Amino acid sequence: MKYETVIGLEVHVELATKSKIFCSCSAHSYGAEPNAHVCPACCGMPGMLPVVNKRVVDYGMKAGMMLNCHINRTTTFDKKSYYYPDLPAAYQTTQWFAPVAVNGLVEIETSKGKKSIRIKQIHMEEDAGKLVHDIREDTTHVDFNRTSVPLIEIVSQPDLSSAEEVEAYLDRLKNLLRYAKVAECEMAHGTMRCDVNLSVRPEGSDKLGVRTEMKNMNSIEAIKRAIEYETARHIDAIEHNTEVLVQETRRWDDIKGKSFAMRSKETAGDYRYFPDPNVMPVVIDDEWFNSIKASLPEFPEVKRARYINEIGLSEYDADQLIKSIAICECFESAYAECGSAKDSANWLLSECMNILNSRQMSYDMLDVDGKALGKLIKLVSEGKVGRANGKKILADMFDNRDIDPETYAKENGYIVSNDTSLIEKVAKEAIASNPRAVNDFKSGKEKAIMALFGACMKQLKGNCDPNTLKEILIAEINKI
Ligand code: ZN
Ligand code: MN
Repeated sequence: MKYETVIGLEVHVELATKSKIFCSCSAHSYGAEPNAHVCPACCGMPGMLPVVNKRVVDYGMKAGMMLNCHINRTTTFDKKSYYYPDLPAAYQTTQWFAPVAVNGLVEIETSKGKKSIRIKQIHMEEDAGKLVHDIREDTTHVDFNRTSVPLIEIVSQPDLSSAEEVEAYLDRLKNLLRYAKVAECEMAHGTMRCDVNLSVRPEGSDKLGVRTEMKNMNSIEAIKRAIEYETARHIDAIEHNTEVLVQETRRWDDIKGKSFAMRSKETAGDYRYFPDPNVMPVVIDDEWFNSIKASLPEFPEVKRARYINEIGLSEYDADQLIKSIAICECFESAYAECGSAKDSANWLLSECMNILNSRQMSYDMLDVDGKALGKLIKLVSEGKVGRANGKKILADMFDNRDIDPETYAKENGYIVSNDTSLIEKVAKEAIASNPRAVNDFKSGKEKAIMALFGACMKQLKGNCDPNTLKEILIAEINKI
């Protein structure tokens, strides 16, 4: 029999706000001492009163709008009870009865074409702390820096059916939320984490099979392997009765390449959700709603169409650029500065990408001043700086956003010289010390001139117009 996999995702995304969701502690504690960013509120002290961070609601709404959701104009917070040492209040403040956004739709692109994934809801909630196990001391430490860091949880309907679709969906979420600048969504940094709900059923059936959940997956490669393994395990159980499938939470061990039962799945009732009496309902009036709506970015597809139809980029270039808002922004200001869309796209998609790749950085980590890039492109296209030296300057611009390309080129000897007498002198020297290349060229091997050309460029430190150099070399050889 043929089977199909049915997958729903719960994606936790850390919002990029400065402070936590219910207090003014910093939400960023990377590199900080344990428990440096804590207060009675985020430590769950009795009697503390949480105050909703408005920016969190702004970002929650924005995320909802990016994913085509309906925004609940009255949104409320609830207590989700569970007891664990990293959760000092013994409940998580989250949203259950009226989440900020519901009924969304996200379109993904796969090898089989476009597919729509329905979003059940997006709710805002607080993160838990971190337990740090110290094997040497045989103790466990708790760090509350992360408690109450704001999260949104994006819950999809079970509309995904393969690892490929899951990857496309996660990429799409990341892309849209980064466009809106509400979250970083970097799995490697823990700012995006994923729970995978999976079941298997005979192809074409509309009944769902027994569902298992793998929690806190934080790499796309691990997610793909886990989906493959779980699918095979479920099919095996159904076909060969190797085991009885039960609804449960499982832990994926990526090193062993296996999943292990953790606990039988809690149902919503186990959490004893109830409205948090300390947090007032948040009422989103028209003015607030409209201001968020007006702050939405240009969507990737709209940008793509504009790049192609209005500024004449190829479909390929447009597709590459819109993958990342960081790239788009750099492109747009470089283009505004230098006036050539094609040159701007080329520099970004070849030279900048090469540097990012060589430093093992992702597209989204591009941090080059677009205006400065535009100036550099102009210097090179006007022949004031050689292309090879332009690339060197660009690499330095990756390390220092304050570099002004023209000043930098002057200070570092990267300005093309128009001094033809110098070029002639260097050309004559190269000809004198490479008689073989000269003879080859004279006997018709035109490519032989490249050896002379390279030697001269090296001597001139790349500060020479290539056509001028070529002309002078040929003229000098013809004199012999
Ligand atoms: Zn706090
Ligand atoms: Mn959650």
